[in-house]
Amino acid sequence: MTYYINTDKCTACGMCKEVCMNNAILDFNDFYVIDNLWCIDCGSCAVMCYENAITYNGLESEHQDEFNNEITELQPIEYF
Ligand code: SF4
Ligand code: SF4
Repeated sequence: MTYYINTDKCTACGMCKEVCMNNAILDFNDFYVIDNLWCIDCGSCAVMCYENAITYNGLESEHQDEFNNEITELQPIEYF
């Protein structure tokens, strides 16, 4: 995954999920998360986010695995 949502900046507006054609963005109610299994790095969500909460290579790779492990333990409100 090369795109990452900064959950501290995310206001949970949901616009990124609306524009993601690959259903790669998960709704956790208070924030949204990009699922690296489905993200194709198109960048549409980053353009759409008015909070600038979505960045490219937002995490160093050594932290990415840790982050991915954490989000898989959470249960999204809606996966698809
Ligand atoms: S568009 Fe930005 S602020 Fe809105 S839900 Fe997505 S990441 Fe959060
Ligand atoms: S970069 Fe594209 S595919 Fe990946 S989460 Fe954003 S809109 Fe979806």
